[in-house]
Amino acid sequence: MNNFYQLPQLKYDYSQLSPLFSGEQLEVHHSKHHRSYVDKANQDLRILDDIKNSEIKIDEKALLKDLSFNIGGHVLHSLFWDNLTPKSDINLVDNELKDKIVNQYGNMGKFKDFFLEAAISVEGSGWAALSFCKLTHRPLVMQIEKHNLNIYPMFKILLIIDAWEHAYYIDYKNKRKDYVESFWEFIDWKEVSKRYREVRDEA
Ligand code: FE
Repeated sequence: MNNFYQLPQLKYDYSQLSPLFSGEQLEVHHSKHHRSYVDKANQDLRILDDIKNSEIKIDEKALLKDLSFNIGGHVLHSLFWDNLTPKSDINLVDNELKDKIVNQYGNMGKFKDFFLEAAISVEGSGWAALSFCKLTHRPLVMQIEKHNLNIYPMFKILLIIDAWEHAYYIDYKNKRKDYVESFWEFIDWKEVSKRYREVRDEA
């Protein structure tokens, strides 16, 4: 068994998400940025493996902070790639999930505005996600700073957008709003619905 993290294959080619992303933007993001979180998380795991049988002194606090950041980066990017598709169709959203979103946010239009604003306004480098709380059965939008801050523990992420500059700067420069609006047209609602049904069945 491979007990290290691995860069996932994308389910589409680098050029297939145009005009959301150019091939160059997507390739740099996946093969450079995401890969670096995978490599650094694995480096940290190797340090943990090394110290268990030795007396090497490490800065444990720094290691744990780094591990949290890099594992968060890897996991969130993996979710992000998987909730994108060149063939987006909002009619494929699970009806039960749609009812819950409408119940929480008013209607799908208001939910869209709320979600996109979360992505546009997240401070510095971060993410916006639609998550599901197993305790209240509510779908809740959250803003994640860096890859690991302000995250709700144990909430399942149904839909996520990377709002770090590295996600869009080649194509959109500083126009995060344009990127976020384009993202909406490339959501894989089948994948979002699948994640919802998984968490509902666990709840
Ligand atoms: Fe990213």
